[in-house]
Amino acid sequence: MPDLPDVLGPYDGETLVGKSVRVGATQIEFWDAGVIAVEPDQPGDKDVIFSCAVHGDETAPIEIVRDMLTDILAGKLQVTHRTLFLIANPAAIVNGTRFIDVNMNRLFSGAHKQGNTPEHRRAAKLEQYVTRFYQQQRRYHYDLHTAIRDSAHEKFAVYPFTHGGPYKMEQLTYLAECGVDTILLNQAPTTTFSYYSVREHQADAFTVELGKVRPFGENDMSRFADADAMFRKLISTTEIDLPAFDSNRHHVYDVSRSIDRTAEDFRLNFADDVANFTEFELGHLLAVDGENEYTVEQPGERIIFPNAKVALGQRALLTVVPMPVENLKLV
Ligand SMILES: [Zn+2]
Repeated sequence: MPDLPDVLGPYDGETLVGKSVRVGATQIEFWDAGVIAVEPDQPGDKDVIFSCAVHGDETAPIEIVRDMLTDILAGKLQVTHRTLFLIANPAAIVNGTRFIDVNMNRLFSGAHKQGNTPEHRRAAKLEQYVTRFYQQQRRYHYDLHTAIRDSAHEKFAVYPFTHGGPYKMEQLTYLAECGVDTILLNQAPTTTFSYYSVREHQADAFTVELGKVRPFGENDMSRFADADAMFRKLISTTEIDLPAFDSNRHHVYDVSRSIDRTAEDFRLNFADDVANFTEFELGHLLAVDGENEYTVEQPGERIIFPNAKVALGQRALLTVVPMPVENLKLV
């Protein structure tokens, strides 16, 4: 069992749920296993959510959250803004797996109503906790992940579908300061946790991929130092002093195609260890799904999140194309 004191509630052996502790001028409430609300007596005007372990084996974000909580509980990190920490799937963490029954990051925005697995029930509760938490005008949610595979862009964030709304320069700059210089634009509603917070709560919310999955204790935390420092700054500073927006800092990709597995006979036509954001030549065969063949259709088209082993009907591969930052509607 990984060392996660005070974070996992019942999974920790000592039930913290329903309890609260005071540290200086801050109240820390344990709403549920892995659901910890930090409430300063005189909060600033931001409500900030950090979630991790929507995928239970993505360890580095859990360690980042654990370390922030440890420092808050020790009085070493003074929180200025209301902050909610969500350790999304404790059972999967204990199990050492991505999930128990189903991929939790397909179960938000009501998709949890279509089943009754532990993940379905937990996703429903997480939505309730987010709703209970958000009060103020400015809402933020960073859903922290690590990827299964290497990536040509080590750190990247998914900018959920904006329904035509502009992209925020301040958020792009904040992410770049976290070391996240690559942005993937989602062009349709999804059932991810970050899109839920965007759509239901008008939050600035992102799925943030911080690097490659390693086992607990084997993460090189120096690789996450910039992100960790900026996360701490966000919750402990009234207003972060960010540099001016610089379009040269950002790589932006637009989702081109989502390739679903519809046939038992499905294969990807590249090696298992091909990195995310790898570019293939025009016409290159990417995937075979029963009778259908998928080839590269646009110059610069790259692959991301390949997984040939997904259940039938689920996404096995995304392709993306680079987009000039100048083409974005920015605010
Ligand atoms: Zn993940």
